[in-house]
Amino acid sequence: MRTLPLLAGGLLTALSLAVHAHDHGHDHHKHDHNHDHAEHQHGDTLGAHQHGVASLNLVVADGHVAIELHSPADNLLGFEHLPSSAEDKARVRQLMTQLQDVANVVQLPAAAGCTLVDSELSSPLFAALDKADSQAQHKHDHDHDHDHKAADDEHAHNDIELHYHFNCANAGSLDQLRVTLFEQFPRTERLLLQAVTPKGQQGGELTAANPVIVF
Ligand SMILES: [Zn+2]
Repeated sequence: MRTLPLLAGGLLTALSLAVHAHDHGHDHHKHDHNHDHAEHQHGDTLGAHQHGVASLNLVVADGHVAIELHSPADNLLGFEHLPSSAEDKARVRQLMTQLQDVANVVQLPAAAGCTLVDSELSSPLFAALDKADSQAQHKHDHDHDHDHKAADDEHAHNDIELHYHFNCANAGSLDQLRVTLFEQFPRTERLLLQAVTPKGQQGGELTAANPVIVF
């Protein structure tokens, strides 16, 4: 819980910027600073990089929903090394496609009329996909001595970060969120929840047996 104020600040700033409705100029510098700080320390958000565990940060305000999910890549993919083989690259691409369909991650009440207006997937694995592709097109030398992490990080640990932002037409029906991630990615056993909703701050743990946040 120690990082909640930082994360909430970052999420609320993102929400405010997206909404263009909370122009409290005097607070922006402070929030921006906190946001950067939180970004750089997101490893601490997980406590430790622990396979099977991910963190879910949720902000619900005025019919807007911001979600940040930080997960070890293993939970979603079954491996964490940077993809270099054609098979691994195909699996990473498939994962990105799955994650771009937010229904595979979370579900909001149909009555709330929510639309996904922004999403972002980030991971060293996704970045490596682009680099590996461009290198393959430009180089055919397999023995060069440069420090290419993709070649020698078989035992590295890497995370995946997901960001989704919804606008909901009927805020009055926006009373819960169901995590569907557990069904799609059973290697994810627990989500550590930090939420700021109209009912205040909420923490806790979500599992396949307990996948719903009510607010
Ligand atoms: Zn790991």
